[in-house]
This record gives sequence, C-alpha cells and structure tokens, in this order.
Amino acid sequence: MSTPAVFAGTRARRVVVVGGGIVGLATARALGRHGIEVLLLEKESTLAAHQTGRNSGVVHAGLYYAPGSLKARMAVAGAQSIYAYAREKGIAHDNCGKLVVACDDSELTGLARLAERARANGVPAHELTPEQAREHEPYVRCVRALHVETTGIIDYPAVCRALADDVRAAGGELRLGVAVTGAESTPTGVRVATRTARAGGASTSKGELTEEVAADALVVCAGLYADRVAAACGLVPEARIVPFRGEYFELAPERAHLVRNLVYPVPDPRFPFLGVHLTRMIHGGIHAGPNAVLALRREGYTWRDVDLRELGESLAWPGLWQLGRRNLGPGAREVLRSLSRRQFAASLSRLVPGIEAEDLRPAPAGVRAQALRRDGSMVEDFLVQTHGRQVHVLNAPSPAATASLEIADHLAAQVEAVLAG
Ligand SMILES: Cc1cc2nc3c(=O)[nH]c(=O)nc-3n(C[C@H](O)[C@H](O)[C@H](O)COP(=O)(O)OP(=O)(O)OC[C@H]3O[C@@H](n4cnc5c(N)ncnc54)[C@H](O)[C@@H]3O)c2cc1C
Repeated sequence: MSTPAVFAGTRARRVVVVGGGIVGLATARALGRHGIEVLLLEKESTLAAHQTGRNSGVVHAGLYYAPGSLKARMAVAGAQSIYAYAREKGIAHDNCGKLVVACDDSELTGLARLAERARANGVPAHELTPEQAREHEPYVRCVRALHVETTGIIDYPAVCRALADDVRAAGGELRLGVAVTGAESTPTGVRVATRTARAGGASTSKGELTEEVAADALVVCAGLYADRVAAACGLVPEARIVPFRGEYFELAPERAHLVRNLVYPVPDPRFPFLGVHLTRMIHGGIHAGPNAVLALRREGYTWRDVDLRELGESLAWPGLWQLGRRNLGPGAREVLRSLSRRQFAASLSRLVPGIEAEDLRPAPAGVRAQALRRDGSMVEDFLVQTHGRQVHVLNAPSPAATASLEIADHLAAQVEAVLAG
C-alpha cells in the first residue's frame, strides 16, 4: 500500500468506523465519548439507507430472546436507553405497548412459552382474556393474549440524525459515498483501503478513486455486507450473511382504525422470524408485515432486483439449502404470501378479522442481514469478532436497532481492549 492519509485531527487515538446505519453511528458516538477521534465511512450518499431506514420502527421489549443472550440483555436495557435518548433529543417515540395474540388453542403453548421467557428476561408482560385484549385492541380476535408494556415505536432515522450530530459535536467526521474495500492490520494500527467517486485520491482503471486511511483501530458495522467486508479485511467468518427480504403493506387510511398500536401473532417456533404483524408507525399509518423471502440481491428490495453474482454466492452456501430443507412448508408459504396480496391479507385477518386484500397498499420493503452457518443453523445472537486491531460485527439483526446504544458500548469496550493490547 502507498503512504496512507491520516485524520485531520490531533487526538492520540483514532478509529475508523465502517457503516452509517444505527449500529455504526451509535458506535462512533460511543467512541467519541471515550475521547477517541472517529472517522465514519458510509458507501451510500445518505445515512440509514439500508436496514435501519427500512425496518418496522419498533422498540422491542426483549421478549423473544434466549435468557442471558446478548440479544436479551441488550434489548431489555436498549429499550430503556433508546427511550431516554429519544426524550433527551426530542425524537418522536411512543412507549405504547403491544399485544401478542393466540388465535386458536394450538397457539396457547407458544404463548405460555413467550410469557415464561418474558419473566426470565425481566420483561413486564401480562396474560389477558379475549375481553381484556379487546380493551387494548377492540378489533382483535384471540383465545388469549399477552400484553407487553415496554414495547413501543420510534423514528429510527431521526435517532441516526441525532447520533450523527453527536459524533460531529465530539469532533468526529462522517464521510458519505466512501466504500471500504479492505484493511490490513499493522503492528501499531490498521490501514484501511477505500473507494470513492469523489475527487481526492489515486485513480483506478475504472475511473474510481482510491485512498488509504491510517488509524489505530477499525470497527466494521456493515450490515448486509458484514461477511464480505470481514473477508476483505483478512477474517474468515464462520457464517455467511444471507439476505431475507421483508415486504410490507400499509392499511388503507379508512381501515387504519382497526389497529390502535401493535398486534403480533405467536411466532412459529420452527421458523426464525416473528410472522407478519400490524404496527402503528410513529408518524402515522398502520404497517402490515414483514414477511421473509430470500432476496435475490443483498440490497434487493423487489423480486426484480437481481444480482447474479450475489445470488450465486447465496445459493452456493450449503447452509441455505439446509435451512430450506428444514423449512420447506413455512418457506413456501412465505413466497406464496409475497406473490399473493390475498394470502398476505388472510394472515393479517387471523389477527384482526375483516382485513381484505383491497385494504392493503404496497409499502417499501427492507432486507434483513442474517448470518447463517454452513450447517443451516442461524446465528441466533449478536456476533462480534476481533482480528488484530479490527472489531467486526458479524451478526446484528433485529433487535439491533433497539439495542444499538448497548451494542455501541460493548463495541467501544472491545476497541479499548484492542487499543490497550
Ligand atoms: C424488515 C426489517 C424490520 C426490522 N424491524 C426492526 C424493529 O422493528 N426493531 C429493531 O430493533 N430492529 C428491527 N430490524 C433490525 C434492524 O433494522 C437492524 O438490526 C439494524 O438496523 C442494523 O443496523 P446496522 O447499522 O448494523 O445495519 P444497516 O442499517 O444495514 O447499516 C449498515 C451500513 O453499512 C454500509 N456499508 C456496507 N458495506 C460497506 C462498505 N464496504 N463501506 C462502507 N459502508 C458500507 C451500508 O451501506 C449501510 O448503510 C429490522 C430489520 C429489517 C430488515
């Protein structure tokens, strides 16, 4: 590598953060609070362009996750810290609570399991009769329900804007439109290779411009590209990111009265996602979804968004076939629901009768970055791996937006350890 550029600032410790989603931004802020000079690099021209800006906007209470896991601990603490941050910064949020509804007797065991998990994780949740459930959601149909008090909704893009302001206020810098293409650990730091369309670096044959940045450490929060960036930085991740698209509809305004806040089904324990649900959005409207289908590109937001190379990589990963074999029934139902608005509406009307295909308007989709092992098992928990002076987030799916401030503190502690070592 040629002589790398260094930061403009003068502080003793300098760290590059990759990714302008909520995890990267929260981490950049946390590092600034440790007195570390930060340079955040994001390949898109805006912040929160992928998972963070395309999610359900829910502050999860910590109900679903294995007791003692990072997800459980950080969601429970993260819900409190993100509400507090929203209050401090005047960001729109509402701790409105949610209902999980058992639609028939076959779901009662699953509901009881969730109630038990809530107790184990210290999440306030109360079992309700159908009459009590209808005091919260008058149009819901159920045989029993769980009311979860600490769930809520929030404007995550606004959280990101506030985090970015905090980073800049602490002397950090955010560079948009800059992709990290690799990194090399050196005995005293890291050299980070970047590519940008803007002027200011050495030209490559494609007309793109490259630059190297020297830092004391690197933190990578690259979401859907976490494994790719890790591999380009010299790691061999044990799991691949497989992109699962979640499609949404919005209830027609004249039907929005059918849902007050959030209504979720009892999740199918054999299937790794929560099932389509109804969610009030913080700036109005009721979202329905997301389903879960394989995206044909990592940032593929419709069936027409295809990248043959990326699709080939997903299909070449044995874990995807193992997962598919184990989930043939639910997987096929998800595809059917993606192709048929009527099927989508049918799933919703199990929760709230009367929702018809005609009541649904298409809304933007999101793509989940889910790490999948070779044997087809999903990496359940958040996963962070260090490699020399690099810290890589290799799995940060839901509830990572809720837990972002906690994940950030965890990563800042890892950076301190790396710098001290
Ligand atoms: C459909 C859906 C619904 C969800 N609902 C919820 C919810 O309600 N509540 C909740 O808590 N969580 C939810 N989640 C999960 C949550 O959105 C994610 O866990 C969280 O946003 C992850 O943040 P991130 O910063 O890791 O990733 P991202 O937001 O994806 O950010 C990663 C960033 O890295 C950038 N990047 C990638 N490669 C490079 C590179 N080489 N160089 C520079 N930049 C790069 C990308 O452009 C991107 O901006 C949902 C997710 C989805 C997809």
